[in-house]
Amino acid sequence: MRLRRYLHNTPAFVKWLYPNRVWDIKSTNSIYLTFDDGPHPEATSFVLEELDRYQSKATFFCIGEKVKQYPEILETTISKGHNVGNHTNNHLNGSKSSFDEYIKNVERCHRTLNEVGAIKGKRLFRPPYGRLTGGQAKYVGREYAIIMWDNLIGDFDQTLSSRECLRRAIANIRAGSIVVFHDSQKSFGSLKNVLPDFLKAVNDKGLISKALSSVDLHPQ
Ligand SMILES: [Zn+2]
Repeated sequence: MRLRRYLHNTPAFVKWLYPNRVWDIKSTNSIYLTFDDGPHPEATSFVLEELDRYQSKATFFCIGEKVKQYPEILETTISKGHNVGNHTNNHLNGSKSSFDEYIKNVERCHRTLNEVGAIKGKRLFRPPYGRLTGGQAKYVGREYAIIMWDNLIGDFDQTLSSRECLRRAIANIRAGSIVVFHDSQKSFGSLKNVLPDFLKAVNDKGLISKALSSVDLHPQ
């Protein structure tokens, strides 16, 4: 079996290493789907339709420059009662960016989201690639809940078949989980195969997806 550079299931020791980040939620009947890297005209619209089938809500971590390109897609997302979070303006990798550059990029995304009325309640942030230096995390963490995950869907991995991607995704379904999909051009091929069956499996297990605004976001 080939080794992959990411883990589908976040190990407990990683959660323990970064206790100030939100990895999962205490819940017995909900799951928290999140979609990164949008908005995207086809992918996001597809996701919104699929979520509607199960009266599900989700959280969309948007890239500022994409919001500028497709503000109407984000407006539709908000009007359907979903949550929106900050994913930087240009999808920066924290460990490859200076403190100043990174913070400015986060703030730029915030201004763009604010302009379209996407910021409601607690501010949510997800670092692209999950990468953040200690200094960046401390600064961002003052204003934002830093939302990580415990079920990373391999929809971005072009070497993973949709079938195998779905199998792993379903094997990791559990109450309280924060799940990451990607509503981007790159992932759409896999996303459209995986998401419908994933949502059905969630429903079959008696769970429903909710937006992160519906819970208390205290880190563990
Ligand atoms: Zn991303």
